[in-house]
Amino acid sequence: MQPIQVLATYPFLNEAKKYIKDQQLTISELLTGKLYERARTVSVERVNNALTTGNVQDRQLATDTDRMMEIYSYPLARMLTTAINDPYLTRRYALAEAYHAYKHLITEPTNFIKQIATEQNIYYKKPQENTISIFYKDYLRYAPTQYKKWKMVNRDMDHGYITISYKDISRLILEAIRTKMLTELEHLQTNDLINSIFSAEITRFRIILNQKRKKMETAPIGKLDIEKLPPCLKDTLTAIQAGENVPHIGRFALVSFLNTVGMNITEILKLFSTAPDYQEERTRYQVEHITGTTSATAYKSPGCSKMRTYGLCPTDKIDDTCRKTNHPLSYYNIRWKQQKKEKPPT
Ligand code: SF4
Repeated sequence: MQPIQVLATYPFLNEAKKYIKDQQLTISELLTGKLYERARTVSVERVNNALTTGNVQDRQLATDTDRMMEIYSYPLARMLTTAINDPYLTRRYALAEAYHAYKHLITEPTNFIKQIATEQNIYYKKPQENTISIFYKDYLRYAPTQYKKWKMVNRDMDHGYITISYKDISRLILEAIRTKMLTELEHLQTNDLINSIFSAEITRFRIILNQKRKKMETAPIGKLDIEKLPPCLKDTLTAIQAGENVPHIGRFALVSFLNTVGMNITEILKLFSTAPDYQEERTRYQVEHITGTTSATAYKSPGCSKMRTYGLCPTDKIDDTCRKTNHPLSYYNIRWKQQKKEKPPT
């Protein structure tokens, strides 16, 4: 069994779940017991930090009681997130838990990293002092291949295995934890007791989320009028601003569009800078390539039929303007023209 300090840092581990089970605690005791008040407070803090910083953050764990409360706060935070029932927050929370684990993992001994990789079903072999070889399918499943370094062409593959550093396998573990946690959260159910214990917090978070959404929908960025964006790119932009993982093709569609409507590289980079693992150098490389600053051509933004093929057209959000056009750029132009017409003559 791992020491309690380790379980408090990685409360999603199977051993942490077993630890809670061994205490023979019921959900009702966790939710209502005076002894667990601290755990409930920390659970709210976890969700709050996830929303505001993209990381559930550390607390002081000076005593075993602190560590126990930290472990208990994890299932409670999941309950709270499920009860708030907001897809944006759910995704943000899963990412914040995974990111918290990653920040600790990169400082751990290699044996521990291997252990966590195994628990997350990441298949490896030939662990050396500084490198480890990962089965290519696991690599492809979890690597952020939108970044140059992570593209398969920039990795050496030997008999289906790619050799990477322990820091890089920790990044793959982050994505594995996030994906698994998100699936679990999407299947969790809330109940009357959870809703009533966290009732004030649920209301508070929902208000914050609504305000945040309104702000995101109306915030003017550079020369861009977000209100006039087509639903496909509005969704992509919102996901990027929220720090969610957006596939490369989504970023490509957005960057090429923004470039055409006149945003400069600095303004585009600003849009990407809220992502938790944002790295300016890599993002700049991509943006400069797409916009033609460091490549032979500026790439054209894809039309509606390509957007549909890429799975980027949210069919449930298609509106009347979408029906009149076959390109997101035309959509944007039509919306501008409509505004001009609607303006009363001066
Ligand atoms: S129809 Fe075209 S403009 Fe409208 S959401 Fe789909 S891809 Fe975007």
